[in-house]
Amino acid sequence: MYDLIILGGGPAGTGAAVYAARKQLKTAIITNEFGGQSIVSETIYNWIGTPEISGSELASNLKKHALYYKGPFLEMIEGEKITEVSKKENHISIKTESGKTYETKAILIATGSSRRKLEAINADKFEHKGITYCASCDGPMFADQDVLVIGGGNAGFESALQLLAYCKSVTLIHRSAEFRADEITVKKILENPKFKVITNAEIIRVDGEQFVSSLTYKDKISGEEKTISTTGIFVEIGQTPNTDFAKGIVNINEIGKIIVDPMTQMSSVPGIWAAGDCTNGKYHQNNIAVGDAVKAIEDIYIWVHKNK
Ligand SMILES: Cc1cc2nc3c(=O)[nH]c(=O)nc-3n(C[C@H](O)[C@H](O)[C@H](O)COP(=O)(O)OP(=O)(O)OC[C@H]3O[C@@H](n4cnc5c(N)ncnc54)[C@H](O)[C@@H]3O)c2cc1C
Repeated sequence: MYDLIILGGGPAGTGAAVYAARKQLKTAIITNEFGGQSIVSETIYNWIGTPEISGSELASNLKKHALYYKGPFLEMIEGEKITEVSKKENHISIKTESGKTYETKAILIATGSSRRKLEAINADKFEHKGITYCASCDGPMFADQDVLVIGGGNAGFESALQLLAYCKSVTLIHRSAEFRADEITVKKILENPKFKVITNAEIIRVDGEQFVSSLTYKDKISGEEKTISTTGIFVEIGQTPNTDFAKGIVNINEIGKIIVDPMTQMSSVPGIWAAGDCTNGKYHQNNIAVGDAVKAIEDIYIWVHKNK
């Protein structure tokens, strides 16, 4: 029986592991992999204490920091997917995809979020065959080509900005008339002659033979269907929390985020805390995820000792 199992090895989960081990809670961290979402970033400029760091180096540093505490108070279980969480009378049980079960007094859910997938005819079929969810990872493969970016938030505009450095043209397609991105980002990019914008568009279909060759959308104002030739589609339409296993166990909001008390990060169920991007916290960043996790560990430490 562990005192605490941490689910997820991003900034939140790793931060929690370091703090829990230092407080000598009998802890395990279970994760698919260490690093979290920004692992794909070319450069991160706001990870405090490092003016510039690549996503992969950040991931490797996080893992290194957890490994430093691996021992009697921290077990590291990597390469495992959590599939089920169940609340028993006096403890919590965790199941993983490989069929293992772990028992613990408390858990901290730090499983973050994943990219929301494009819902359009053939979108699945062309994933990695022209449809991609990461401009910084896959962008250079589309140098000198005409590409599309789907999504009018900061992520969409930032991806477009990156792609404009080497693509022939970048057209950003957005479902409404108003962009959700910061005004300063939008203004900067609109001046670029290689950049075009299509608003009020509903994506209908992606076509091609082996690889993407076109995208068809409906103009929501005129109702007309239009087809654009393209070889690359970069999707930036938001995130969905990785919380399927927590549904029916703790209270979650309408988009699947775990509802927590912002003072302590505790969920609706005693013994279950959550931190980082999987929660209903208003803002999500690497530093915030770690802060949430540290706050949770302070609370978990007191709770575990009270419930000995
Ligand atoms: C492309 C990109 C760039 C970004 N750039 C920045 C930036 O420059 N600065 C910044 O502050 N923020 C940035 N962010 C946001 C930042 O990455 C997130 O806020 C942060 O990663 C959240 O951390 P987290 O630990 O809550 O979750 P995540 O980073 O999502 O980590 C979740 C962890 O849980 C694991 N996991 C998920 N589900 C399961 C499961 N069922 N079983 C086992 N393990 C599981 C995952 O493998 C992962 O290790 C960026 C995000 C993206 C997508």
